[in-house]
Formats: sequence, C-alpha cells, structure tokens
Amino acid sequence: MTDIIIIGAGPAGLTAAIYARRASKSVLVLDAMSYGGQIINTPHIENYPVAAHISGFDFATKVYEQAKALGAEIKFQKALEIRDNGDTKTVVTAKGEYEAKAVIIATGSKNRPLGVDGEKKLVGRGISYCATCDGAFFRGKTVAVVGGGNTALEDALYMADIAEKVYLIHRRDAFRGEEATAEKLQARGNVEFVLNSQVTKLNADKRLQSIEVTDKQGNVRTLEVSGLFVAVGRIPENQPFAPLIELDGAGYAVAAENCRTKTKGIFVAGDNRVKDVRQLVTATADGAVAATEAVHYINS
Ligand code: NAP
Repeated sequence: MTDIIIIGAGPAGLTAAIYARRASKSVLVLDAMSYGGQIINTPHIENYPVAAHISGFDFATKVYEQAKALGAEIKFQKALEIRDNGDTKTVVTAKGEYEAKAVIIATGSKNRPLGVDGEKKLVGRGISYCATCDGAFFRGKTVAVVGGGNTALEDALYMADIAEKVYLIHRRDAFRGEEATAEKLQARGNVEFVLNSQVTKLNADKRLQSIEVTDKQGNVRTLEVSGLFVAVGRIPENQPFAPLIELDGAGYAVAAENCRTKTKGIFVAGDNRVKDVRQLVTATADGAVAATEAVHYINS
C-alpha cells in the first residue's frame, strides 16, 4: 500500500511527488512513457521564475532527479484505470495493480491532429507534432508551422534557426501565444506569417511535397514545403478515469483550485484540469496544491 500514487511524471506530477515526499508520504509515480511530459519538447523556457533560460529537457530532468532524490518511486507503466474502493484506490496498469490511499491524476494532454485528409499517413514523412524532436531533418529546407499558440510560435522560432524558410500559418490575425515571441519571429528574415488561413490540403508523393492554404476570402495558395509542424493545441488525457472524475465538454477534469475531484481521495493537477492559464508555473503550482490536499485527506 502506497500513500499517494501520482499518474503522470510531467512537471505537475513530479512537483506533487516532491511535496508529498517532503510530507513523509510514500509515493509511486506512474508514467506511460518517460518523465517530463510535453515540456521536454520546449527548447527554451524563459518565463519560469529564477530560471531566466533553461531547456524543457533540462528542467524536467532536474525535477525528476529532485523527486527521485527525495525517495519517490517512479515506474514507467501506463495507468489504464482507477478503481475506487472507498478508503483506498487501485490503479491498474498492464503489468499489475497498485493500491494507494490517494491518487493524483497529472496526465496532461496529447497533440491535437489538424484533421486534414492524409495527415495520419504522412506522420514521419513530412508531418510532425514536435519541432525539437524532428526539426533537424529539415535543415536548410522550407517548412510550415500551423497554429497560433505558444507551441506554434516557439516551434516557428526553433525552425527559423534550422530551416531556410518558415511559414507560420494561423487561422486568425491575432496570435494566442505570447507577444514577445511573435515579435522575435517578426524580426526574423526567413519567417513569413500566413494569417487568417487554414491548411486545407496536403499534397504528397511518398513524402509531403506541398500544402494548400485557404484564406477567409476563399483564396487558395500552394506552399512548397517539405515539412509541416502541427501545433494546434492539445487534448487532455482524462478519458480512462472518466467514471470517477467529472469532465467538461472539452474533456478537462472539473476541479477547483484545491484540485479535488468529485471522488474523495482523487485529485487532478496540471494541464488536464479545467483552468484559464496553462503554463509550466501553473502546472507545478497544481502539483504542490494537489499533493498538499492529498496529504490533508490522508491525515484527516
Ligand atoms: P493552444 O494555446 O491551445 O493554441 C492552439 C492554437 O491552435 C490556437 O492558436 C488555435 O487557434 C489553433 N487551432 C486549434 N485548432 C485548430 C485547427 N483545427 N486548425 C487550425 N488552427 C487550430 O495550444 P498550445 O500552443 O499547444 O499551448 C498549450 C498550452 O501550453 C497553452 O496554455 C500554452 O500557453 C502552453 N505553453 C506554454 C509554453 C511556455 O510557457 N513556454 C510553451 C508552449 C505551450 P485560435 O487561437 O484561433 O483558437
């Protein structure tokens, strides 16, 4: 029996592990893949207090090592289900079942596909959801990034250093992401904004050859690109736990700032929770709150 099982080893989950261990609770962190969550794909973090500049990978590694040094156990197994036994919870993975007094769901979110015909077949053949993972394959080539949030802006900036030319395609004329990053992009000679436009067609032989974009007036433009980086948002990873937590229309877990769900002993933390601001700093803050609430719950 573990005191607290934390599902997800991203910034929220690992911060929760640090807080729970410092409160002397035993902790098991489960993650399907590896530690770090989506932040490992962010090349430059410049908005986290104290760290004026750090890569997402270095940030995640430091938090992971901190949690391990404090005694958190971390297993790379995907949580498939939580069973509520009243005072205890059982978390089921393909390799076994683990029992805990409280569970924190910090599963974050996954990439949202663009939804254009042929997209799936071209993943790895020109289409990517991660500029820092795949950007180097497009050195000296022309690529497009689609989306208007922080991920798209940061991906475009990252690719501007690698590719010959970068089109940044966004469906509106105002970006959702930070103005400071948009200004940096504007100053780059090899970045062209394609605004009020959507990607409507992918042209491919074996690999992506070009894309068609259609603007709000219906004008179609063909862009010769060998790479398309899709950064059109994320889908929260809450579905396996839906029976025990309330989800909003977009699939985010409904919980107030105290991170408590409708089931006693189950908490949510990070990007998969309903909130207005999804940032690294709000994810780690959630981790601290959820762990503190879980400790209160166990002790009460
Ligand atoms: P996001 O902020 O939700 O932005 C998604 C973007 O994709 C929006 O601009 C949206 O357009 C566009 N979009 C959505 N569906 C589309 C479609 N079908 N076709 C074309 N465009 C579509 O997602 P994100 O950029 O992945 O960021 C997720 C969260 O992580 C955000 O809270 C972000 O601030 C945070 N983040 C933070 C950092 C950092 O702090 N350094 C880095 C990366 C991400 P509209 O604007 O028109 O809705």
